[in-house]
Amino acid sequence: MTALTLETDVLQNFIDGKWVDVENTTAVTNPANGERIVQVPLSNRYHVEEAVKAAKKAQKNWALVPAPQRAEVLYRVGMIMKDKKERLSRLLTMENGKVLEEARGEVQEGIDMAFYMAGEGRRLFGQTTPAELKDKFAMSQRCPVGVVGIITPWNFPIAIATWKSFPAIVAGNAVIWKPATETPIMAYELAKIFEEAGLPNGVINVVFGKGSEVGDSMVQNEDIRVISFTGSNDTGRNIASDCGKQLKKVSLEMGGKNAVIVMDDADLDLAVEGILWSAFGTSGQRCTACSRVIVHHKVKKILEERLLAAMDHLTIGNGLEEGIKVGPIINEAGLNKIKKYIEVGKQEGATLLAGGSEWESNNQGYYFTPTLFTDAKPDMRIAQEEIFGPVVSLIEVSSFEEAIEVNNQVTYGLSSSIFTRDINRVFKAQRDLDTGIVYVNAGTTGAEIHLPFGGTKGTGNGHRDSGVQALDVFTEWKAIYVDY
Ligand code: GLU
Repeated sequence: MTALTLETDVLQNFIDGKWVDVENTTAVTNPANGERIVQVPLSNRYHVEEAVKAAKKAQKNWALVPAPQRAEVLYRVGMIMKDKKERLSRLLTMENGKVLEEARGEVQEGIDMAFYMAGEGRRLFGQTTPAELKDKFAMSQRCPVGVVGIITPWNFPIAIATWKSFPAIVAGNAVIWKPATETPIMAYELAKIFEEAGLPNGVINVVFGKGSEVGDSMVQNEDIRVISFTGSNDTGRNIASDCGKQLKKVSLEMGGKNAVIVMDDADLDLAVEGILWSAFGTSGQRCTACSRVIVHHKVKKILEERLLAAMDHLTIGNGLEEGIKVGPIINEAGLNKIKKYIEVGKQEGATLLAGGSEWESNNQGYYFTPTLFTDAKPDMRIAQEEIFGPVVSLIEVSSFEEAIEVNNQVTYGLSSSIFTRDINRVFKAQRDLDTGIVYVNAGTTGAEIHLPFGGTKGTGNGHRDSGVQALDVFTEWKAIYVDY
């Protein structure tokens, strides 16, 4: 096993290729046992300004580096991440709590993203088009936007950082990155990897700190021309309105209320597996987590029984330990929010079939037992609001049409899934489910990097992470006409 030692007890910002001390810091704790891991800087407006100065200078030269050479740096980043995969995964489990198997999956996603975006560096295609007039040549080209800001969450501290920073960098931008203060170690490790891979100074700048200070300064800074944000709905909406006033481009991913639909002809074993993994993986703290199961009345009872039996095998504990399936909740605030929703669910009249309480560990960790409500109604708060915990609510329906309607009756539109053997239902569902991602005969999680990630309605504003579509966030189009 790789030793889990950090080279430092106090993290520093990474600005203009230098590691910079920040006076104020706060403790980062391991959610599995409450132990302090490291101190993280609480930076302020001044640090953001310094980072922007460095980024502006660096970006001019970086944009002149041929795109395939920029891509080569990402390729090296991918190779180093591959070498460090086990260390990164263990550190990820330590700061975030997700079980090691999932942490490895997340780091692998970052590695894949590095090679994928390195490939895109050779495919930053524009167009040539016929011109209306003679002796005229018409073409278009993708150009970097300039200095861009990325604000990343604690639930996927490395994967989401790669979804945003890699396309930004390969497209020739310089980046100001504010990682979540709960999970700064992945940012520290990734910045070191960029350094080792030879990314020029100032092309990526990491400024640790709170959203209210660092995030806000980034949003207000007129030299930052894009904000790409993944996080809570309220914060995202505030960012959007501030960016709107400045005509600053903004890309938002703000969660989901994702459902698995189980039809009467479904393979129930497969459905149980899909629900289990997508509802309780990462302790339900995924934007794509399944938090509703919309089930056809003919199979409701049997699905409940099978789910309950399968949930019995979900071992809870420290994700670094062998065999643990459900790790801790990120912090006390997260735990309290889940507890509040359990009370809401009971008051609303849903039936609690399993879980519903804190899991008592013998240390200071924050754990919640996988929870199943049944007889939920589509308009209940537990079936409408994002809980971000291992809580799933069953809603009974009597037809395919009703299932689709209930799925779409939420303000979010990130992910959805249907279990059925009927090919006609499959095609109708992929057409009618109003979400950015649709799964057939699989749970609501596990999106791959080659396709656009994001959602409709309250989930976002149309932009996407991942896929070639991520390049649209970090590039501008230029049309060029040459008369000859
Ligand atoms: N990669 C994750 C999945 O599809 C989603 C990331 C998120 O929840 O924010 O399961």
